[in-house]
Amino acid sequence: MPEQPRSRRQTRAAILTHLLQSGGSFRPPLAKAVRLSEASLSRILFDLKAEGLIEEIRRPAPYVGGPTGLVSLDGSVALGAVELTGQWLSVGVGNFSGELRYTERVPLPTEPTTEAVGLVFREALTLLRDWTRRRRIRLAQIGVTIPGLGRLSVSGNPIIPCDVDRIGEMFDAMFADLPVAFTNSVVAHATFHRYRTENYPFSDAHLFVFVGQGVAGTWMDNPGEDEALQPVELGHMVFEAGGPRCRCGHHGCVEAYTSLPAVAELLRTTEAELLQLGNEWVTTISLTPRVRQELRQRLFRLGLAIGNTLNVKPCRGVAVSGWPSLLADDDRKAVIDGIDACLLGGRKLAQVNLAFVPPSNGNDPQSALAFAAFCLARSGGMPAASTEAA
Ligand SMILES: [Zn+2]
Repeated sequence: MPEQPRSRRQTRAAILTHLLQSGGSFRPPLAKAVRLSEASLSRILFDLKAEGLIEEIRRPAPYVGGPTGLVSLDGSVALGAVELTGQWLSVGVGNFSGELRYTERVPLPTEPTTEAVGLVFREALTLLRDWTRRRRIRLAQIGVTIPGLGRLSVSGNPIIPCDVDRIGEMFDAMFADLPVAFTNSVVAHATFHRYRTENYPFSDAHLFVFVGQGVAGTWMDNPGEDEALQPVELGHMVFEAGGPRCRCGHHGCVEAYTSLPAVAELLRTTEAELLQLGNEWVTTISLTPRVRQELRQRLFRLGLAIGNTLNVKPCRGVAVSGWPSLLADDDRKAVIDGIDACLLGGRKLAQVNLAFVPPSNGNDPQSALAFAAFCLARSGGMPAASTEAA
């Protein structure tokens, strides 16, 4: 098939996203990966280096007669991260490899209103602006993540009340000319895993499912210049009209059974305590046979929601991140059984691979930072200075 000609931006994006995913590459494998001759690659790398986006470290190559320059993203590029969670708003400044130089968390009130969340944003953005100003740091890109952000949230966010348009205006006023990108939290967690998790199980298109404070998914494209990330609200499939109330306002959503707060309630503890115990809670809290049985039933429902999503849009791979990843295979099998029970033809016939990746909740603002890095790379280092939803 003849190849589509690529724009300068697309070629630069292919190089930068490859470097983001690989963490660094020698020139010949990089040229091959982005389908360029070494001479063309050389010209583009020259520009990217002059713009301070990449660096090349002389290093002996792992093969005879090989090149000696390891190309990687420039560690001095400063990225801004702004991540809204159920407890607080995190802001930070970090680099392409996920190292944070600055972080601050401004707590949300227990009963947040649009007004109060706006004030929290104002306070946190002022901290971020002052910190960067004092050090004369210019942010190359800011990534902002908000739970439940999507088409609906134009008129009001059903998860955490906030006015995204007004927050956008705040960024314009405080960070004029800086590229700012907003996204749904699940999209940011998906980019965090794809670009930061070592040995991430999928390198091509798949569905990423996040089970944390909420339950949601992201359709992941093949990585590259036009990689699109589409949030999918699979957590709000209703399984029992008279079931427990969900934070979206409906009753009996799969999220109301399988989110971390819902599981905390089942375990007679709180989400904050589970987050504090980290990955150890599965071994620290002993499960009675009744609780274990209930957990499996809930995981089965999660599997049904995933299977239903795949019925609507078939996809060969599913990565699940969150508390289910901490459980033993025996317990997690309930997710697979749920998928099998509703996916047309079952998981095997539909050739769906399922992989569990570690939870990434509680690490804010790492996901927003990963999303900022992704946005800058995907724009080819030529971001449009406007607020746009990804
Ligand atoms: Zn819901």
